[in-house]
This record gives sequence, structure tokens and C-alpha cells, in this order.
Amino acid sequence: MELRNCIKCGKIFGYRGVGPAICDNCKKEAEERFDKVKEYIRDNPLTSINEVAEECHVTVAQIKQWVREERLMFSKESGVVFHCENCGAPIRTGRFCEKCKSEMVNDLDGMYQKPQAPAAPPKRQRETDRMRFAGRK
Ligand SMILES: [Zn+2]
Ligand SMILES: [Zn+2]
Repeated sequence: MELRNCIKCGKIFGYRGVGPAICDNCKKEAEERFDKVKEYIRDNPLTSINEVAEECHVTVAQIKQWVREERLMFSKESGVVFHCENCGAPIRTGRFCEKCKSEMVNDLDGMYQKPQAPAAPPKRQRETDRMRFAGRK
């Protein structure tokens, strides 16, 4: 543990080396604000992001960050829209749309499967193609 100044209140505290340097008091306060925001959105499904920020005394950037972390979600009726960081499609929480998310999962699967997949059948296919091409000449 090392002593650091809290980036929020400036108080010296024992930093555990994980995440932003924020003291326990400020962390607790942030969690309480998060709960307040979550409740406010639940109770006011038509609210705008600016209204939530004003009512709950948090910044718009903080609310957006919580949405990106999939901790918060605005209702469809609220009209609050976020965009997929990959294709720009409208989404309601997180960083990517369902389509991009599933494509990313497929990419990962492909990466794991490639070294194990037997390469024989497509190779044989290519050889016969080449022979046919050479024979035609
Ligand atoms: Zn603090
Ligand atoms: Zn997308």
C-alpha cells in the first residue's frame, strides 16, 4: 500500500494500486450517487441525461461512463441514445451493438480454432484446381 492524494478530494489515503486513486470516502460517495442515478432513471423513465445530471448532482460524462460500463440503461422512451463504437448503430447501454458484439465473439472463436482446424480438405481442392488449370494450357 502506498500513500496517495485522492484525485477527488485531495486527502492522503492508502492506495491499493488498483484503479483510479480515489479514497474510500469518495468511493462510497460515488456509489451512493450511482444508486441515486439508477433510482432516478427507474422512477423517471422519460428523463433526459442532462436532467439526471442536474437532479443527482453528477456530471453528464460520469453518467455516460456508467452507461458504457453497462451499469446504467436508459429506457427506450427516454430518447437517450448511445452509439456503437464500431459501426455507430444506436444502442442503449455498453460500447457496442449486439451485431458487433457477436461478430467480435466469432472473431475470437476463429482465432482459437485456426491452429487446430485440419487444413487438408481445402488444400487438396486447390491442388486439383491447379492441375486442371495446368492441363488446359
Ligand atoms: Zn477522496
Ligand atoms: Zn455495431
